Amino acid sequence: MHELSVATAVLNTALKHAGGRPVEVVAMRAGSLRQVVPDSLRFYWEVVARDTECQGARLEIEEIDVWLRCEDCGREWEPLIAAFRCPQCASAHVDVVAGEELEIDYLELSDRLELPDAGAPRPGPPPTPSPIPRKEPAHA
Ligand SMILES: [Zn+2]
Repeated sequence: MHELSVATAVLNTALKHAGGRPVEVVAMRAGSLRQVVPDSLRFYWEVVARDTECQGARLEIEEIDVWLRCEDCGREWEPLIAAFRCPQCASAHVDVVAGEELEIDYLELSDRLELPDAGAPRPGPPPTPSPIPRKEPAHA
C-alpha cells in the first residue's frame, strides 16, 4: 500500500502543476531510503492516473543512492552497507544528504492543445476548410 499512497501524492502534485493540460511524462526522484518498488509504483500510477490529465503519462523514476555526511568532521560518503556511522571519525551524528528524495523532477505536458497536428485521429467533426484563398502579399 506504500506505493499506492506515493502514486496518489505524485498524481496530485502533477495535476496541480499541469493546470488542466494533458501530461505525457512525469519524472520523479525516489531516494533508496524510501524503499519504493518502481514496478509497483508504476502499476499504481496507471490505476490512479486513470481518467485524469495524467492518464497514459509515462512515470519515470530516478532512483537516488543514499549519501551521508558526518556532522562532526564533514566527511561525506555513500554507505555500501547499512552503517550510519562516519568511517572517518566514527561519529554517529550524521546527516542524510541524499536517499530520502520523493519528489517530482519535471513534467512533460502535451502541446496538442497549442499545436494540433494532423497525425492523430481526433473525435468530433473535422475542421471546416477555408474556401477563401488568401491574398498573396506582393514580394518586392
Ligand atoms: Zn566524521
